Amino acid sequence: MDCLFCKLVAGEIQPDKVYENEFVLGFKDLYPQAKEHYLFISKEHTTHANEMSENHPEQLSHIFDAIRDFTKSNSLEKDGFRIVNNLGPNGGQTVFHTHFHVLGGEKLRGFGA
Ligand code: AMP
Ligand code: ZN
Repeated sequence: MDCLFCKLVAGEIQPDKVYENEFVLGFKDLYPQAKEHYLFISKEHTTHANEMSENHPEQLSHIFDAIRDFTKSNSLEKDGFRIVNNLGPNGGQTVFHTHFHVLGGEKLRGFGA
């Protein structure tokens, strides 16, 4: 399948990994939008969060468990962070393998902040 993030999972492209378990991969975003910017994906392909929720809801738990473990292991949980998911063209999704952005390392603006 011609999917960028499946290629990362397969090791065809080497991401800057920050977290891995049997279900989930976490890695640095190549074009960070905050001082710290990570992406968390399931190793199994789905196209977007609604498809994941409908067909593989357990993957949502795996991803959020991974984000919890990761952000507890550094200062992100203590200092605060933001989880973002983009779905489809109006949401700004550009990679069609479900992923959750974890942004932090500084005070984030927008969304009423
Ligand atoms: P989205 O716009 O929500 O689909 O997010 C896709 C994200 O993937 C963007 O923030 C990109 O900067 C990021 N990205 C694209 N290619 C790579 C890559 N090879 N490694 C890490 N992040 C990437
Ligand atoms: Zn994929």
